[in-house]
Amino acid sequence: MRYIAIFAAAAALHAAAAARAPSRPLIPILDAAGITKACEEGIARHHKAIAAMDAKQGAGNILDEWNSLAIDIEDVLNPVFLLSSVHPEKAARDAAEPCLQQYTALQTEMFQDPRLYARVSALQPMNPHQAKLKKDLLEGFEDSGAALPADKRVRAKQIFDRLEELRQDFDRAIRDDSTKVVFTPAEMAGMTEAYLKAHKPGADGNYVLGLDYPSFFPFLQGASNGDARKRYYVAKLNEGGKDNLDRLLEIFKLRQELAGLYGLGSFAEYALRRKMVQTPQVVEKFLGDVKGAVTELEKQEIEELRAAKAKELGTPLADTRLERWDVSYYQEKIRHDRYAVDQEKLRSYFPTDKAVEYTLLVSQRLYGMKFREVKVDTWNPDVRYFDVLDATTGKFVSGFYLDLYPREGKYNHAAAFPLHGASTRAGRTPLAALVANLNRDGLDQGELETLMHEFGHVMHNVLSRVEYNPDAGTAVKNDFVEAPSQMFEEWARREQPLELFKQVCPDCPHLTHDEIERLDAARRFGQGIRYGRQWLYASFDMAMSTNPQPPLELWTKLESATPLGHPKGTMFPASFSHIASNYAAGYYGYMWSQVLALDMLTPFKKNMLDPAVGRRYRDTILAQGGQEEEMALVKRFLGRAPSSAAFFAEITGKR
Ligand SMILES: [Zn+2]
Repeated sequence: MRYIAIFAAAAALHAAAAARAPSRPLIPILDAAGITKACEEGIARHHKAIAAMDAKQGAGNILDEWNSLAIDIEDVLNPVFLLSSVHPEKAARDAAEPCLQQYTALQTEMFQDPRLYARVSALQPMNPHQAKLKKDLLEGFEDSGAALPADKRVRAKQIFDRLEELRQDFDRAIRDDSTKVVFTPAEMAGMTEAYLKAHKPGADGNYVLGLDYPSFFPFLQGASNGDARKRYYVAKLNEGGKDNLDRLLEIFKLRQELAGLYGLGSFAEYALRRKMVQTPQVVEKFLGDVKGAVTELEKQEIEELRAAKAKELGTPLADTRLERWDVSYYQEKIRHDRYAVDQEKLRSYFPTDKAVEYTLLVSQRLYGMKFREVKVDTWNPDVRYFDVLDATTGKFVSGFYLDLYPREGKYNHAAAFPLHGASTRAGRTPLAALVANLNRDGLDQGELETLMHEFGHVMHNVLSRVEYNPDAGTAVKNDFVEAPSQMFEEWARREQPLELFKQVCPDCPHLTHDEIERLDAARRFGQGIRYGRQWLYASFDMAMSTNPQPPLELWTKLESATPLGHPKGTMFPASFSHIASNYAAGYYGYMWSQVLALDMLTPFKKNMLDPAVGRRYRDTILAQGGQEEEMALVKRFLGRAPSSAAFFAEITGKR
């Protein structure tokens, strides 16, 4: 009922505002035929624009021409990309696929176009933003092979095409892996009512489970039968199959060859020269520091888990060995026993619509914005839309959609989708969408963090005020892009901002100081093992990117050197899709972004709602997108070079 009232009020506001405000930029809600038509017309129009750009000599207005083309492209591509993930009709989602492929081809074509390359090269930048865009575009041309001699360019194109084929095959092998694991009712001991209800037994009374996350992870945490957990773990760690190991080796060999075409020693050098870190040496040093920081903690945690296992099974400690498939189970047990944390109970503390209101309230306070819900056309009745207004001037700044609940055929993770990228030169305001699969009955802490994480991405998009569209919002280096979102998760954990929950829901139960501390302690328990694992993934990625070699042999060697060793019969690399895609030589980026995220929290000191710091963060980081070097922006915000002190304090529990 409350929802309806809010909508009605918002609609009235909209009607009143409509007379004054220019029509707000939204996306077209296309059906299957509409998608195909928009795509065909779009591609034809872009080709015409490119031909016109090709026909001109010298730099001229190339950046403005590029800006207009980029805007026209995203006006077709971004809505189609979103609809491919959220459209209620399968026909529409399917129609989006070939369209997206055509746009991938178009982008390759643009960045291999020698005439466009010549025009951008000839440009004399008039200001730093033009210089940065020129640099980004030139790097795009170079990385696509446009700057290579003809024979090498041909080979580079072959390599790109083959890499894309291999990536698709790799992902398909994971997606289509229909391995099932069968468990007797007795082996399901420890699983919750809700889990048993969602996974009904077959006619013979046995449970048949697939390798999907919602089935696998809760089982590993809950099932008390160690042999059953082992069977499931080994099956999951074979996902993708042996063929994927061969694909991975071919992928990394091709990448090595690609780097060679550019006269570079390794793919790691090739990829990292475009990242914040710049060189493999910086990553190696960072990973060495991570390893140094977590080694002892990891061993200590394993000892605690081993003791818990011995106690539960009544075995002598000396004879008890902790296995990989034991980790989640005993961690969960300790979290429950030691910290008395009941995540399910938190749902009554964080009713979903109130949690959304909280997220919006925190952002409005911090960044000096006002969000106004407006009734507009969307792709599903659940979807809400908000105008973003400047709190002081009331001026329209941007807009965002929230599509928060699961439904049939919808993208099943959480993500922020950029729809319109800002461009002050083109008078273009940003628009983005948050897509998630929240529980309608209330959130646990992890889900509240997810909501805030994705909203961090949304703010990076919609508070962007860059000159040129290709630098808008989250168009930043991918070892920086997670920093604003990881940072925003903190507002789901700290006591001071959580006080605001009393404002959005006076009738909800509220977390006490003691409960918040226990929640945080429970969250931190297991950081040694978690970051030990992250280190392993990143190190494996770097080793393959530096010196391609049979992946399973390398993985077995690296994993065997860890305290828990290598479980026989598993082959994790066969499902490591990050490194089959363009995240290769980039896995370290998750931890690197976190270094920056935690460092950028330090100016808030004790006041996480300080509007002056929030405003400065909005202006120096969020507004700038990628129109300046990320490192320069971070330094300006911090007033110093970034430091990893906060990150290491966090992962070793010394904060
Ligand atoms: Zn993210």
